[in-house]
Amino acid sequence: MMTSFVHEFDTPLFKGKVNFPTGVYIDGKFSDGASQTTIDVIDPTNGKVITSVSEATSADVDRAVSAAQKAFDTVWGLNAPGSYRGKLMHRLAELMDEKKEELAALEALDVGKTFKWAMDADLNIAIETIRYFAGWADKIQGKVIETTTDKLAYTRHEPIGVVGQIVAWNFPLLLLSWKIGPALACGNTIVFKPSEFTPLTTLRVASLITEAGFPPGVVNILTGRGPTVGEAMSSHMKIEKLAFTGSTLVGRKVMENAAKSNLKDVTLELGGKSPNIIFDDADLELAVGWSAHGIFWNHGQACCAGTRIFVQAGIYDEFLKMLTAKAKSIKLGDPFAEDSQQGPQVSKQQFDRVMSYIDSGKSQGATVHTGGARYGEEGYWIEPTIFVDTKPGMKIVQEEIFGPVGVVIKFEDEEDVLRQANDTMYGLAAAVFTKDVSKALSIAHKIRAGTVWVNHVNQVHAQIPFGGFKQSGIGRDCGEYAIQHYTAVKAVQINIGNVRI
Ligand code: NDP
Repeated sequence: MMTSFVHEFDTPLFKGKVNFPTGVYIDGKFSDGASQTTIDVIDPTNGKVITSVSEATSADVDRAVSAAQKAFDTVWGLNAPGSYRGKLMHRLAELMDEKKEELAALEALDVGKTFKWAMDADLNIAIETIRYFAGWADKIQGKVIETTTDKLAYTRHEPIGVVGQIVAWNFPLLLLSWKIGPALACGNTIVFKPSEFTPLTTLRVASLITEAGFPPGVVNILTGRGPTVGEAMSSHMKIEKLAFTGSTLVGRKVMENAAKSNLKDVTLELGGKSPNIIFDDADLELAVGWSAHGIFWNHGQACCAGTRIFVQAGIYDEFLKMLTAKAKSIKLGDPFAEDSQQGPQVSKQQFDRVMSYIDSGKSQGATVHTGGARYGEEGYWIEPTIFVDTKPGMKIVQEEIFGPVGVVIKFEDEEDVLRQANDTMYGLAAAVFTKDVSKALSIAHKIRAGTVWVNHVNQVHAQIPFGGFKQSGIGRDCGEYAIQHYTAVKAVQINIGNVRI
């Protein structure tokens, strides 16, 4: 019997009923997965089952790829003009806008993020992203290339074909929009896998994709587990490109599978351990506010989280005092409560993982300056935590924790902080706080990271490329740069001089 989710929200911030199918979405229709098994979706505020969704397996991947290939060959790809693709994408964005509160409520319920943040960040960005790429759909153009007078040569930026997309659980809708936006604009068809932990908003959007009028098979959604569905997708001989957002560990596997199968094109958006550098001359209040946001936003579950805070010696004590006060003032609680600023970590696994990093920090000799403990009796809340007295080799300084945990480190000068900031395998993002423009730009250019924020952090925009240096990834989401990853360039050469050989 096909699963569906029926739920009545009765919260201070959102009231309303949701009712949508939670099967696998293939060829425009929901159905049970081939295995007929399901995955429980857990409420992170109490560990209880919210609902269950179909568990896709490799047989469903084959079915979804066939549907996507058929759609590519008949109604999408080279058969669908960009203006038409753009129109459907605009319609999808409109529907998401109309259902914004419902989608934000589902995101809050499933991920544990606050409803307010889900509205302000996740939904706004997701809708803006679909609109932004809808605008690109009829502006994807090649070039005419001059060679000899006998020849006309030009390039076509053609869709790649069936693309696979696999994402993490921390921003389910936002990541969906970053992936399907450029893929659809360029005319590709899609097999998409959300995280097994947070499938609800993606499935709700599946219904909106049908309602927007997308032909069946253009977008297919498989709720399933990484080691089965994810592996089958990255190894599939008929998926021509795989776009992945997740950990560096799994990103490596995805690339290996791509190499071992059909050498599919791969883009990877992976982990980070971003440095956040505060100079003596920074606007202290501004720097403290953004630094707290940098570590604690989304409960620290952000790939670009500025979790290594380097503070220049002259303001170190004052900064630490102010940051600690800020951390202590964060209100933990029900994601749907008016005053909540931090919900629980997404799952028991993540809760345990973050707590084990806190234990490792303590056992390796760092000092918990504030926080460091579980909050509440049930659910997966963790207190906003700041470590001091760290050493460069400690796990909490080197590894991505993906929870509300940061380290504050004193530095002397520019050379000292650059060396420490770049001493990581990651290179996703960084931030610098100073009133000196030259210093800010000098640091921005010398940091090895895909994004550098000056005097703010963690801001992403559909128009601006986002991605990593080093082991934080390959390729870019967002902006014109993402478009480049979803087209194959074909050169056409014409013998206009009727040259003979
Ligand atoms: P994972 O790497 O564990 O999982 C990411 C996705 O890959 C999930 O859908 C997962 O499925 C799937 N997966 C798991 N194993 C495999 C496999 N063997 N083959 C193919 N797919 C697989 O990451 P998390 O979901 O835990 O997300 C956290 C990570 O994501 C952090 O490292 C974070 O930095 C990164 N991230 C990066 C972003 C960026 O833009 N750079 C943005 C957001 C997050 P399942 O859910 O079943 O495990």
